[in-house]
Amino acid sequence: MLRAIGKTCFACAYTLTDQVRRLAGSSNTQRVPFIVCYHRVVDNFKHARRNTIPAMLISTSMLEQHLDWLAKRFTFVSLDEVGSHLATRRPFKKPAAAITFDDGYSDVFLNAYPLLKRKGIPAAVFVVTGLVGTGQPQVFDRLYSTLRHLHSNGRHLAHSVSYALQSLGMNNLPLEGLEAKDHVPFRVMTALLNTFPQNTLEKVIARLEAGDPCRTDRCEEMAPLTWDMIQTMHRDGITIGSHTQSHRLLTKESADVALSELSESRRILQQRLGAPIEHFAYPDGRFNPMVTQAVNTAGYRYAYGICRSRDEKLPLLTIPRKVLWERSCLNAFGQFSSVIMNCHAYGAFDTKGHCEHDHSPMMQEGMHAKLA
Ligand SMILES: [Zn+2]
Ligand SMILES: [Zn+2]
Repeated sequence: MLRAIGKTCFACAYTLTDQVRRLAGSSNTQRVPFIVCYHRVVDNFKHARRNTIPAMLISTSMLEQHLDWLAKRFTFVSLDEVGSHLATRRPFKKPAAAITFDDGYSDVFLNAYPLLKRKGIPAAVFVVTGLVGTGQPQVFDRLYSTLRHLHSNGRHLAHSVSYALQSLGMNNLPLEGLEAKDHVPFRVMTALLNTFPQNTLEKVIARLEAGDPCRTDRCEEMAPLTWDMIQTMHRDGITIGSHTQSHRLLTKESADVALSELSESRRILQQRLGAPIEHFAYPDGRFNPMVTQAVNTAGYRYAYGICRSRDEKLPLLTIPRKVLWERSCLNAFGQFSSVIMNCHAYGAFDTKGHCEHDHSPMMQEGMHAKLA
């Protein structure tokens, strides 16, 4: 509660000084548009959060509040417009915003797409091509949902994970501080994602899932888009981009695996949609110089992270976005707050010089530059 009040007070103060700055004509916030990244769009946030990472969720009604707030202050632009402006270094005449959705959940088609269509707002959807039409949840959704289920059944998560690793012949792996992270399924999930490439991770998940396979209802609500849904949105002007073939965190994979994830996904999308695919979003915003180079080699023109880090050599392949979700713009009373949304839009909460994502080896902390 105290934190929420502090956030609201900071947002009020920031917004006031920001308005003064803009009246004085010194605002320079529009060199890169405000690009928002959402994930799932659900009818009922409280119901959906039982199985899904809360920060991946926004309800349709909250999304509408975000869009209405933005519509009053920004011109919505497509990612093609963003790309061509950035490539030619032409600033936008008016403040511009773009809307994107990562991971390709079917609820984006069911809940967000009709809303965007009704309001005439352009948007982009980044899909995981290997999952399209399979009905299978994302790997991290399976992991989180299983850990949460084990935890709510009273299982000790660190022991469960250690047991799963041992049964796969993997002992003494560097799951640093996992004991301390017990009782927090999200942190255990993050520790696993940060440690293993996806092939290993899938084996660990299969062991954890033994006796608790993803129940049909849980799987259904996290289902990915089908090709029919993607083709319908594409015909209607929604930009379709790639989010890899299997949502591998590319910084955890070899250069060969990264390039194959990127190239295969692009090839499949181009074949299915009969159009060039130019936009790519990094799974979990993770990139480093090896990964950005692979994105370049695979032929993408524009790629998007979820923080303000840039690769100065490939700025069009490290375009910043802001992740927003159901609770990111709430005040201390749990209501949508215009001043907090304003802070997000102008990066007031963004940390400079530090990022939780690993962009090493060559990306230095100092490269967490201002939006440039
Ligand atoms: Zn993702
Ligand atoms: Zn970062």
